[in-house]
Amino acid sequence: MIRKQLITIVIGSLLTLFIFIPVTHADSGQTYLVQTEVLEVKNTPAQNAEVMGQLVRGDKITIFQEKFDWVQTYYNGQEAWVASQYLTPVKNDTSQKESSDDSIPEPKKTTKKEKSKQHSTQLFKPEQVLTTALSIDANDPLSGKHIVIDPGHGGKDPGAIGVSHIKEKKLTLAAAEKVAKKLQDKGATITITRKDDTYISLKKRVQKSAAHETDAFISLHYNAFQNPSVGGISTYYKSGDNSKELARSIQHSLMDTINLSNRGAKQADYHVLRENNDTAVLIELGFITNPKEVEKIQSDTYRKKVANSIADGLQQYFDE
Ligand SMILES: [Zn+2]
Repeated sequence: MIRKQLITIVIGSLLTLFIFIPVTHADSGQTYLVQTEVLEVKNTPAQNAEVMGQLVRGDKITIFQEKFDWVQTYYNGQEAWVASQYLTPVKNDTSQKESSDDSIPEPKKTTKKEKSKQHSTQLFKPEQVLTTALSIDANDPLSGKHIVIDPGHGGKDPGAIGVSHIKEKKLTLAAAEKVAKKLQDKGATITITRKDDTYISLKKRVQKSAAHETDAFISLHYNAFQNPSVGGISTYYKSGDNSKELARSIQHSLMDTINLSNRGAKQADYHVLRENNDTAVLIELGFITNPKEVEKIQSDTYRKKVANSIADGLQQYFDE
């Protein structure tokens, strides 16, 4: 689940003006120190929210986003909020450094040849690239297309926590591997934003898309909701380009093969879409808080259907 850029309306008591305050997402988690004796951890950013636990002076927490005077962290693997006024930032904290393997070079001008070389080396070992290069066929439906697959969350960010403590980050990675393989079989070159359980900031995910001539950026997520009966698949797109057509094509293709409710293709303001200059969509592949659905979406059969549907959706989109 991607935390929505909720827009909250505050009515100023004197001016009765409507002020729109968006949630600000931190691009990467920052470490803060608790500066009060006891700090309550809440399940939502509100004074009257349910208390999940307590922090004490000297505790360190990692912050992922801010909303009014509240900051979001994780507490026992669950999304949690604490009042920001009792926190101070910790400087030079090396434990928060991302894995250097995933560092992105500054975008530089490259020739087409260099670019296609970069594409091939992102996901596969040299010997595999060779095999692929030999088997390139202009008739492959996705030949010449470069697709970025983005498994949501990872590392210290588990994403949503579902039934039986299943973590979204694990499912997105498993799905991404299947999708990447399928698209590669159809002739596409692939970049995957993370290959293991590593934390990658939203900003870096977008940079990975910008570092290539990307034809489509596809972020994979799973949804969560308090009501366990809520379920279904949705695809989100950024505004302003043909991402909408791609989202509709993929959503249509998913609903053709998967027997879950259709929550539609919708515009959304998520960071990886909004800040992306490439065609970009984000797919929520079912609810991990729905016990019936979670059983299904963890299966290999389901992932294969997802991979096939995304490939078909892309193909139809490029054909039009
Ligand atoms: Zn998510």
